[in-house]
Amino acid sequence: FQAITLAQYPKAYIDESTFVTQSFESVALKDGEFRVAVSHWSLDPAMRGWVSPDTESYIPPVAIGEVMRSLGVGKVVESNNEQYPLGSMVSGMTGWSEEIVSSGAGLSVVPPGVSPELALSALGMPGMTAYIGYADVLGLTPGQTLVVSGAAGAVGSVVVQMAIADGLNVIGSAGSDEKCAWLKSLGCHGVINYKTDDIGAKLDELAPKGVDGYFENTGGPLQAEVYARINPHARIAVCGLIADYHSPTPTPAPSWINLIKRRARIEGFTITDHMHRVGEIVQGLMPYFQAGQLDFKTHTLKGLESAKLGVNMLYKGENTGKLIVEL
Ligand code: NDP
Repeated sequence: FQAITLAQYPKAYIDESTFVTQSFESVALKDGEFRVAVSHWSLDPAMRGWVSPDTESYIPPVAIGEVMRSLGVGKVVESNNEQYPLGSMVSGMTGWSEEIVSSGAGLSVVPPGVSPELALSALGMPGMTAYIGYADVLGLTPGQTLVVSGAAGAVGSVVVQMAIADGLNVIGSAGSDEKCAWLKSLGCHGVINYKTDDIGAKLDELAPKGVDGYFENTGGPLQAEVYARINPHARIAVCGLIADYHSPTPTPAPSWINLIKRRARIEGFTITDHMHRVGEIVQGLMPYFQAGQLDFKTHTLKGLESAKLGVNMLYKGENTGKLIVEL
C-alpha cells in the first residue's frame, strides 16, 4: 500500500518537495489488532503547523520520514478485535496512509448512517471544535450579537448555524461573495466579505449596538475592528488564526485596554484538550442535526496525490466547505 511521508520541512507554503509517496508492505495482524482500508483523509489548517519544526505547539511536529499526520475514515477489512468488527467504519488518526493496522488507540467506530464526509466535518473534529468554542467558551444567550470569522468554513459554518438556531444575531465574515451568499442562505443576519467590504463600516451597520461574542477563526484585519466594538462582558473565543500561519510576524494585536473597559473575556482553546468529552459533545450537536438546523459542505479532492498540494487551498480560501481527499 502507499502512504505519504514528510520529506522536508517547508520554508513558506507546502510545495512539491515537502512530501513523498512511498510503498509499504502490509504486516500480519497480532491479537487485538485490526486492519483499516482508509478511504478518506481530512486536510486541515493545522497541518502547516505540524510540518514546522521550530514552533513550540500543543502537539509535536511530524518528523522527517514519518507518515503525515491526518484524520481519516476507513473500513475495517480484517479484525482480531471485537470492538472493531469486520466491515465497520472507523474514524480518527489514520495519517496519510491507504492502510493502517491499529489496536484502537485514537480510532472510534462511526455510527451507522453517518457518511465519511459527515464524520470528518460537522459531526467530526470541526463540528466538535465549533461546539466547544460556541457552547463552552462563548456561552452566549438569545438576542446577543455574535461575529464569526472564517464563517463559511468547516468550523465556522457549524458555529454560525448553532447560533442562528439558538436565536442569536449572527454576522459571518468570509472571503468571497459566493461564500457570503451561502451564509445568507443559512440564515446569517449579516455578512461581511472581508476582502472587499469596508469592515468597520459594515460592522457599524450590522451591529449598531455592538458585539457580544466573537468566534475567531482567522485573525487578520477583522479582528481589531470587532475588538473595537465589543460590549460590556463580551466573550472572545480564539479558535484559529489562519491569516498568520504563514507569517513570521503575526497581525498586531489590539491593545488590551478594551478588555478592562468592557470587562471582557478572551480565551484560546484546542479541541485536543476535549477529546475525552466526545460523547457529550456529539450529544450537544445532535439536537441541531435532528432539527435539520445543521447543513454542511464538503470539498472533495480525488486521489492520494491530491493531498500534497491540496492543503494549500485552505490558506488561499480555495476550499468551499470541509476539505477532504477521497482515495
Ligand atoms: P476552513 O474550512 O474554514 O478553511 C480555511 C478557510 O480560512 C479558507 O477557506 C479561507 O476562507 C480562510 N482563510 C484563509 N486565509 C485567510 C486569511 N488570510 N484571512 C482570513 N481568512 C482566511 O478551515 P477549518 O474550519 O478547518 O478551520 C478554521 C480555523 O479553525 C483555522 O484557523 C483552524 O486552524 C482552526 N481550528 C482550530 C481548532 C482548535 O482546536 N482550536 C480545530 C480545528 C480548526 P475565506 O475564503 O473565507 O477567506
